[in-house]
Amino acid sequence: MKPPAEPNPFAGARAALSSKRAEIVSKVDELGTHDPAEVASLGFGKRVGDATLYAVERMTDAYRARTIYATVADIDHALERIEAGAYGRCVACAGPIPVERLRAVPWAALCVPCSAKPVRSKLVR
Ligand SMILES: [Zn+2]
Repeated sequence: MKPPAEPNPFAGARAALSSKRAEIVSKVDELGTHDPAEVASLGFGKRVGDATLYAVERMTDAYRARTIYATVADIDHALERIEAGAYGRCVACAGPIPVERLRAVPWAALCVPCSAKPVRSKLVR
């Protein structure tokens, strides 16, 4: 069944968020394709530094994966706000988020002044 025409000016945002979400999730899949055999082979005939470098890369991947999952959560929240008719409004002060900002970051939950405030600590554990 086709939904009725969307009255809000962010009608394109849902598609943009959905495709971005799919793109991000596929990136997470790429990060998860490290072959365990590759790790095991690092101990033989290679400099110790290679294994260390690999470990650092894995940590970086884990960090990136976490960042990516946080972005997916942000996108999901943005989709929820679209459903609730609250998309395009700052979740902190309810002020409008500039359209240019939403074009650059469709899942932006905060307006520019609010995003400049150090309130992101709850996302970092
Ligand atoms: Zn705000």
